Amino acid sequence: MQKTPEQKRLKIIIGVLILILIFAVSVLGLIIVSDKKAHDEVSNRPEVETALFDEEANSKEVREEEKKSAVIIDNSNCATGFGNLMLINPNFKVTTSWIANRKKQLISVSKTYGIQEGNKNNGDNLMDAEAAKHLNDMLKAYEEYNPGHTMVTRSCFRKVGTKCGRLCAATGTSDHHTGLTCDLIDPKYGTELNTDYYNSHKEWQWLRENSYKYGFIDRFPAAWAGGPMSEPINVDENGSTGLYETWHFRYVGIEAATEIAIGKYNDGKYDSLEHYLKQIGKVKDLKNGKCE
Ligand SMILES: [Zn+2]
Repeated sequence: MQKTPEQKRLKIIIGVLILILIFAVSVLGLIIVSDKKAHDEVSNRPEVETALFDEEANSKEVREEEKKSAVIIDNSNCATGFGNLMLINPNFKVTTSWIANRKKQLISVSKTYGIQEGNKNNGDNLMDAEAAKHLNDMLKAYEEYNPGHTMVTRSCFRKVGTKCGRLCAATGTSDHHTGLTCDLIDPKYGTELNTDYYNSHKEWQWLRENSYKYGFIDRFPAAWAGGPMSEPINVDENGSTGLYETWHFRYVGIEAATEIAIGKYNDGKYDSLEHYLKQIGKVKDLKNGKCE
């Protein structure tokens, strides 16, 4: 059947209308999508910022929490809550998770103070911020006393311990887990840790005699090693440390360091941290790791 010109025109008009409708719907769709996108971008921005802010606030909170949890995370050792006086030894052990948690609270003494690390394989050169500041002051004083010399860290914080008898402590028992300790060497006197050599050296004696002014103590003096080097390690109820390390200096704060160095609770002789803690009543049972 032949279409009339009117029918043809109507068909064209309907076709054009359909095309216009499709075009309009597409354009409208695009406008809505792009508008939504723009809106999302705008409204997302504050959310992102809020999220970043929250993350920062959260991490601060986490850090605070970690500080607290570092104290209570390991119930097997009551003496981790003693701050600068915290005690870790074979009778006051900590878990690997406690050690990992403690690491997060420490700063790098190399990055903060430019203190060189004598042995990069033996630790991270990390330390508690307050202890690190005092370490820096002490090492500067050593250099003034001994011009041309430097004192560097052999290792500070350590995640793992070592097993080598009277000169080392196993993982979970090491004073190096506290973040308050560094092994120190003067590279001009050799890079190896040598107990007897250091002990007889007058420059080394300076450290032993003056470290308390900066809040540090000789942590493992021979007198408290718990018997001759040939005998097995003994960490006993009297406060023997079981170790002998002339290079190992531990931060305890100036007040305690002074009392330990002058032997306030040890008849005027250099004290051990263990014996000191028992004398001031913070630790009850040194042999079984009990504070109460
Ligand atoms: Zn050490």
